[in-house]
Amino acid sequence: MKFPSPHGSIASLTPTICHLLGINTPNDSSESALDMVISTIEKDDLPIEKCLIIAQDAIGAHLWKSHESDLNKILPLVPLRVPLQASFPPVTPVCFASIFTGAPPEVHGIQSFIKPILECDTLFDALARANKKVAIVAVVESCIDLIFRNRNITYFSEEDDESVKTKTLEVLRSDKYDVIIAYQADYDDNLHKTEPFSDLCIQSLRQHITDLKEMAKAANQQWNEKKHVIAFTPDHGAHENDSGKGDHGLNIPEDMDIFHCYGIYTP
Ligand SMILES: [Zn+2]
Repeated sequence: MKFPSPHGSIASLTPTICHLLGINTPNDSSESALDMVISTIEKDDLPIEKCLIIAQDAIGAHLWKSHESDLNKILPLVPLRVPLQASFPPVTPVCFASIFTGAPPEVHGIQSFIKPILECDTLFDALARANKKVAIVAVVESCIDLIFRNRNITYFSEEDDESVKTKTLEVLRSDKYDVIIAYQADYDDNLHKTEPFSDLCIQSLRQHITDLKEMAKAANQQWNEKKHVIAFTPDHGAHENDSGKGDHGLNIPEDMDIFHCYGIYTP
């Protein structure tokens, strides 16, 4: 398979979700909504009511190259696959701050591996202003668990990826939320301990795929009569460094090239 060259930024998640949900973008959002996503939906079908965002760490284009047949299993659920660039440097807090603000690092302020509470306007602030109920289900003390605190969000800090999945299913079925973010970290954790294509890492990748399918199917079941969007939004890729360990943070395609995948459902 030939890979299209990436054009937009991962920060496009924020304006794309705002467009679909019919709300104003946060103040610092400077990206455009993804045409490849929003052009698939008729004006009459807007706004979309519900949203599930699945953020799995470091599932970059490097894995689509090496394990495409595995990753293809998510496409029946999130078929709109868009090639994008990570933010620079491609490390977790820099990238997720961009994803959930629509802004570049020099604007949102996280430009290295630090996890301060973001002070700038975010997707979550924009959702709160529009009276949307938001839940973030994330591994405890991960970047997503920390940098978006002090907002009108229900936070679920979970011990590990498995409990993130279990809690996300519970949160979905509670029917209390309009927008749910699920964040899992095993692949990224394991690539730093081994290398990006180790048996341990590929086992984590496959678990992420299994979990994504389960969470997405649960969303489709819960929201089967509601217009909804499911998005798969990883942060960056990875490469093997000179010491033979997995790493990321460089301006190279292995670290920077990402696919975000969307599924839009309008019953
Ligand atoms: Zn990451």
